[in-house]
Amino acid sequence: MIELAQNIASYIVIESAIESGLLWLLALAFLRLFRVSSPNVRQVVFALPLVLPVALVTVFHVLDVVVPFPVDRPGPVESFISKWLVLPLPLVVVFSLAGVVGIAASLAVLVRQGLVWSGARGTWRRQRRDNSPLRYRCSAILDVLATRLGCRAPKLVLTDRGSAGSLALGWWSYIFVPRALAVRLDDEELEALLAHEIGHVVRRDGLLDCLAKVCRNLMLFNPLAHLALSRFELERELATDDLTARSGGNRLALASCLLKGYRFRARHAWVPVTRLLGGTSALESRVQRLMRDVAPLPPSTGVWLTVALFVAGVSAAFVVIL
Ligand SMILES: [Zn+2]
Repeated sequence: MIELAQNIASYIVIESAIESGLLWLLALAFLRLFRVSSPNVRQVVFALPLVLPVALVTVFHVLDVVVPFPVDRPGPVESFISKWLVLPLPLVVVFSLAGVVGIAASLAVLVRQGLVWSGARGTWRRQRRDNSPLRYRCSAILDVLATRLGCRAPKLVLTDRGSAGSLALGWWSYIFVPRALAVRLDDEELEALLAHEIGHVVRRDGLLDCLAKVCRNLMLFNPLAHLALSRFELERELATDDLTARSGGNRLALASCLLKGYRFRARHAWVPVTRLLGGTSALESRVQRLMRDVAPLPPSTGVWLTVALFVAGVSAAFVVIL
């Protein structure tokens, strides 16, 4: 039992924390060194300290059980962990509890995603026959945007509360639009909002978001995982805003729609949502960026090649260290 607790502690809580710390430093150094401004690339870089620690620790230890490594002597990181961090009994209990809580929180993300998906499906089926002017207006814009982007139009779900959002799981994709917000938007703002949400669908952000949150929750007690997720989410929004502009959405209309959405949420939330989640800095960054009237360039192949090399190098380094 103690051995199992040690394993949970060592695998999920300690090793991933050490790796995410190193990867966070590497990510910051990479962004500073290459002065990366493309949100697509920055999103990948901030995903590294979030996803790689979980993926590498899992792959390494599963491999170690299936095909035991022919070396009896543990690596330097593993011996440091078992000698100084995991062996004291009170820490074993604390870290194993932390590991179990993290696993439970990750499973909760998947369950919640399933519930949202089945709820969206049910609501969409109920609303399918609804021919209200608002539904007609949104569906017409969605059809035009889907044709422009060369994708299938997502299913529209009008909600009575919450904020606009999207859910894309493979073939099925839904876009949620609060009625009370939509009626306050003019045609350009509504088009920009729907273009932004369809951008999330095209980029498969629903799946990536789910994966990122599962990894964050597995490292629930690691503050860097929370920081990496918030930076990852900000870059995801900036990249989707760029896609919105490229697909013909008006940048200023999107900025104005974001501000109206903020006013709407602040008025309807019990506790102002943005204050609870750490201020309005993300909203300010997005609005300021949208107001700069510069069409962003898509990331070049050279940047992607650099990112691919960076990921391959870091992965190889960690496999060797472990
Ligand atoms: Zn968004």
